Amino acid sequence: MKIISLACNNCGAPLDVPVKTRFLTCNFCDAKLEVQRNESASFTAVLESVNELRSDVQELKLKSELEQVDRDWERERGELLVTDKHGRSSVPSGIHLVGVVVAVAFGVFWTIFAANMAPFMAIFGILFVVVAVINGVSLQRKAALYRERKQSWEERRRRVLQQILPSAD
Ligand SMILES: [Zn+2]
Repeated sequence: MKIISLACNNCGAPLDVPVKTRFLTCNFCDAKLEVQRNESASFTAVLESVNELRSDVQELKLKSELEQVDRDWERERGELLVTDKHGRSSVPSGIHLVGVVVAVAFGVFWTIFAANMAPFMAIFGILFVVVAVINGVSLQRKAALYRERKQSWEERRRRVLQQILPSAD
């Protein structure tokens, strides 16, 4: 088979092409090329539409991946939010611990007060403190988990974005 030496019209790399080949992909830059011939010479031309189409498909794929990443986080976030007694939901954070501290203080006060007045009532104060502490611990865990999951979402997002946007450097 006769081989001709051509140069990639996109990156300039030398390409050895069988003489009958019309379409090829550059091994170096992945450009789709068409071999064109006139009476005196053969040369390669970049098939713009093919290359553009490919990058469009790639971009669409990445965009839908980005949407998937955001949807995953939206769902996860919904499960981690704290709902108050008015049905409002918010991000678990240190603010919610104020309520826990107030509840513990109330429980302790009740226990001391009841111990003097009607000792069996003290049990409700102690129960109140126990429930408040359990709530506090679970809130702390939720807040930590929330931070962790949010960070991993941001990382996933950054990775996909880096593929869509050409890097600045
Ligand atoms: Zn090339």
